[in-house]
Amino acid sequence: MNSFNFDVITLIPRAFELINNLGVVTRALDKKLINVNVHDLRQYGEGSYKQVDDKPYGGGSGMVLKPEPIYKAHDSIKKLSNSRTLLMTPQGKVLKQQDLSRWSSLDQLIIICGQYEGFDERVRNLADEEISVGDYVLSGGEIPAMSIINGLTRLIPGTLGDPSSLFDESHNSFLLEYPQYTRPKIFKGMEVPNVLTSGNHEEIKSWREKKSLERTLERRNDLNFKNEDKK
Ligand code: SAH
Repeated sequence: MNSFNFDVITLIPRAFELINNLGVVTRALDKKLINVNVHDLRQYGEGSYKQVDDKPYGGGSGMVLKPEPIYKAHDSIKKLSNSRTLLMTPQGKVLKQQDLSRWSSLDQLIIICGQYEGFDERVRNLADEEISVGDYVLSGGEIPAMSIINGLTRLIPGTLGDPSSLFDESHNSFLLEYPQYTRPKIFKGMEVPNVLTSGNHEEIKSWREKKSLERTLERRNDLNFKNEDKK
């Protein structure tokens, strides 16, 4: 089987040392199910200072990433046939579990991380998709990129000990997961629901379906599972 290839363009390559220590990702790297190639944007900078940023035209605070180094870095990455380029930006489409599963059938995901005040508008032309990890602003695209690497890696066959754990979990089929318990049966007066210790698999299944639905309605009525068929 071919490995899934992540190619990340970043000014902070060291940030990605962290993903080597993230359980499932570590296992996937060891088993060669994924490759994470980190490309240091600074190497594509201009002049002896390897400049990658500049002041914005029209004035304003902060620095903006120049287009040339990002284009050069992107051009230098060997494109596999089944590849997509993502741009990390708080202005993008908010990341959903469905995006991760859609990308999991690719061979390569190229992820561009911004820094400072962001990037020159012309960088957008490189991207197939612009992705945000939520309606808040971080200082760089590294944590968003790692979220994508982590979330997508879990979906690659062979990475999870028990692949069936993907089936019921939150955000699969627009539902949140049902409540889970482990031993002890009573903890500080809080009891495990009887049905779960009954051994009746049918009842357990329908209790879980009901709880999953209740929980989604209570907490995330926006998830739109009711409209799933229409999508
Ligand atoms: N001035 C920009 C924000 C810059 S934040 C604006 O208002 O749109 C610096 C970089 O961090 C961004 O270029 C992006 O790559 C990353 N970033 C910050 N918040 C993010 C989010 N919610 N999702 C994805 N990337 C984000």
